[in-house]
Amino acid sequence: MGKNKIVVALGGNALGNNPEEQRELVKETAKPIVDLIEAGNTVIVAHGNGPQVGMINLAMETSSKSKEHTPSMPFPECGAMSQGYIGYHLQNAIREELLNRNMDVPVATIITQVIVDKDDSAFNNPSKPIGSFYSKEEADELSKKGYVMKEDAGRGYRRVVPSPKPKDVAEKETIETLIEKGHVVITVGGGGIPVVKDGNKLIGVPAVIDKDFASSKLAEIIDADYLIILTAVEKIAINYGKPDVKWLDKLSIDEANKYIKEGHFAPGSMLPKVQAAIEFAGSKEGRSALITSLEKAADGILGKTGTRIMI
Ligand code: ADP
Ligand code: MG
Repeated sequence: MGKNKIVVALGGNALGNNPEEQRELVKETAKPIVDLIEAGNTVIVAHGNGPQVGMINLAMETSSKSKEHTPSMPFPECGAMSQGYIGYHLQNAIREELLNRNMDVPVATIITQVIVDKDDSAFNNPSKPIGSFYSKEEADELSKKGYVMKEDAGRGYRRVVPSPKPKDVAEKETIETLIEKGHVVITVGGGGIPVVKDGNKLIGVPAVIDKDFASSKLAEIIDADYLIILTAVEKIAINYGKPDVKWLDKLSIDEANKYIKEGHFAPGSMLPKVQAAIEFAGSKEGRSALITSLEKAADGILGKTGTRIMI
């Protein structure tokens, strides 16, 4: 596999839970990415940010509660911070891995805004839990401030935000220019900072765009050939977690839609990946998606493992 344009979407297991862990883990994450570059492909890196944006949000909240001079930090700003924090580690590790292989390729992170529709129905139904857990009393206080609070599986109350669908990537021309120049671009981190258009303004909204959907949208916009989603499992399964589990090597869009209807993919984890893969693979002839684990990425790319989704 060479000379293709590939969007690689990294999951939570590629990043870790604190700065030390993340700095170590991304060294491993960089290897399959650089393998692809070494084989002659153009690689664009996307990633999630769930634990990281949660950590930043919690730190800012705790600090603004205890110290008068720390302002409360809006969620889109927390998302921007997470893109910088994760992008810094990723671009550093990818750069080092490239240099170790005597490859002189520039790497950069783009703080990326992803445009969502202000009329997206997700705004009427906030469903994505973010940040820390609160008691009933604290949650009632926050509700008065306008936050939507929901009980989360018996663990306490959490703020929930909408998860709208990505429509466009605000920095797409910059991304395309860098790609054409041969740079490795890290973009749409955490699904991108969600913004709505208002005339000349892009206004950040407290929401979370699924990174799998944002990666698929980005791959469409930049006319990629492949979308590779690297996660914690080597393949997609039907009857996942059951005795008659069946791991899949290939999946047509029709089969994938049938399995979705039958409820084989968990919402919030595997379902958005399969939906994102379907959207990308179905968007133009010759495009396909691969879902596999970070550890098996090299074999997956060679066609030896993982689940391929194509028309
Ligand atoms: P990421 O951080 O990569 O987005 P997620 O935890 O959101 O990872 O989604 C990947 C997880 O989805 C897997 O680790 C697995 O536990 C779960 N999963 C749910 N349904 C399936 C399925 N049908 N086949 C494989 N994995 C599944
Ligand atoms: Mg996920």
